[in-house]
Amino acid sequence: MSKKPYAADPERSRGRRVVEEPPCYRSAFQRDRDRVIHCSAFRRLEYKTQVFVNHEGDLFRTRLTHSLEVAQIARSICRALGLDEDLAEAIALAHDLGHTPFGHAGQDALNECMAPHGGFEHNLQSLRVVDVLEERYADFDGLNLTYETREGILKHCAAERAAQLGELGERFLRGGQPSLEAQVVNLADAIAYNNHDVDDGLRAELLDIQALEGLALFGRCSEVVRARHPALGGRRLVHEVVRTMINLLVCDLIKHTNQLLVAAAPQDIDAVRACPHPLVGFSASVGGWQRELADYLRTHLYRHYRVMRMAHKAKRVIKELFYAYINTPDVIPDVVQHRIIANDMPRARAVADYIAGMTDRFAILEHRRLLDPATSG
Ligand code: MG
Repeated sequence: MSKKPYAADPERSRGRRVVEEPPCYRSAFQRDRDRVIHCSAFRRLEYKTQVFVNHEGDLFRTRLTHSLEVAQIARSICRALGLDEDLAEAIALAHDLGHTPFGHAGQDALNECMAPHGGFEHNLQSLRVVDVLEERYADFDGLNLTYETREGILKHCAAERAAQLGELGERFLRGGQPSLEAQVVNLADAIAYNNHDVDDGLRAELLDIQALEGLALFGRCSEVVRARHPALGGRRLVHEVVRTMINLLVCDLIKHTNQLLVAAAPQDIDAVRACPHPLVGFSASVGGWQRELADYLRTHLYRHYRVMRMAHKAKRVIKELFYAYINTPDVIPDVVQHRIIANDMPRARAVADYIAGMTDRFAILEHRRLLDPATSG
């Protein structure tokens, strides 16, 4: 499939914040992807979790494997739709770079701590990582990514924050959409996490397969698999059903999006951006099935008492770390102290950046070092 006129075009990018020579053998978006892969926040995703804490077992997804799954799904969809796969890959690999340790529990705790200091939002933090926090280049802070990759990373944004982000924040104030590639990554993210959380939830025995079979999406796909392989059971059955669900969602998304694009007939990426509604989406029925599954996971997996117990401990670790650093600035490591002085930045923001950058296991270790007298600091 050749690229469509409404796809993002690396030759016509809105550019980087600091002007650079164009790359020799790569597109501007391929360079963005490569910069993300080589940055240290990307490597730390291996030891950060979404639902299950990293040390619970080696079989569960981490933020790194999640990001790879999102990139794979987004690339497949973009290729079928004639969009720019490299841009989608760059956005997908970068989309969770700003996540705190311990998934949503960690983000909620840090947001509560930061309430008097402007709050903390993991999506904005992902942008902060690529714009400011990575220290790898002689000529600029951050990774100096293209506008299109940064636009895709910023999925949502409150109006008061958007007002400080210039061109990038405009769509949150005036309405409008990001590129189609960014819209694809957004839904590839949902496809990836709903399905891998089903898989991991069953593996952890927090979810029940018979109950899942009562849901439209899982039930239909399970029927298809059982009709084809009546004797199949155990993990292999789960994998076949998850595989069937991902395929059904991806195929529906491609088909329905093609219809939306034919109807709207955008001439170029700016027409996509000016559109009052997204142009990437599921059909009404499959969208409903996907929402039913997401709602089910919210009540039966994310609020499962075993997950809530871990979340409870995680929040405590994050809050105690935060207040230990804030109330006793002398215990803040030199590297963070230097950043506060060199950039003349508020201590709370520097501490939030530091905590957000921690892996699950580092946060647990640092908590022990700071608060357990029996552990050497
Ligand atoms: Mg994600």
